[in-house]
Amino acid sequence: MKFFIATKNGNKIKEFSRIFSDMGIEFVCENDFDSVMPEPEENGMTFSENALIKARAGLQFSGLPAIADDSGLCVDALGGKPDIFSARYAGPNCDSDENNKKLLHELKNVPLNRRTAYFICVIACVFPDGREFTVEGRCDGLIDISPSGKGGFGYDPLFISELGKFSEITPEQKDKVSHRGKAIKLFKERLNEYI
Ligand code: IMP
Repeated sequence: MKFFIATKNGNKIKEFSRIFSDMGIEFVCENDFDSVMPEPEENGMTFSENALIKARAGLQFSGLPAIADDSGLCVDALGGKPDIFSARYAGPNCDSDENNKKLLHELKNVPLNRRTAYFICVIACVFPDGREFTVEGRCDGLIDISPSGKGGFGYDPLFISELGKFSEITPEQKDKVSHRGKAIKLFKERLNEYI
């Protein structure tokens, strides 16, 4: 079965394809089409709302069942920030290094044992006949006092999970405990009810 995946993030496409390799699901993305997908305004107030906005735009663009995810980091000592603004925490066109620097700055007076945080990933799935569902995965951890490690992306150099820092564990280990790995597992289970 063919699904459209509404993301430009090559890391996410790789993670999804790896986890779905056993299920006979083929993912196509914008690059497999001749035209450019109009970018929807992500104006939702929650990860779920934003994931649905992106999935619906993907369905409209491709005509295929479409999935999209929305994810981010919530830090307890910052009242849950950066939350849905994780990608643009340090400003509209910022990169991961700038986001990580801002996070460390905001947490500079917070000791390690109070730097609890969690990643959330919501996957939304929409079908041409109007059916829709979402699933959510969560991964708890701590924000380290300095970045390290070469793997992963985004906030990985700072996030210490139960299996170790996301930037220092293998992709397979990350899939086991990560918010995205858990959401994808739930998504696989739910999808069986729909296909
Ligand atoms: P999205 O593309 O709108 O879902 O943005 C998610 C934001 O949260 C980006 O800044 C990512 O870097 C960050 N993020 C989401 N998942 C992860 C992860 O697994 N590791 C590190 N950062 C992540």
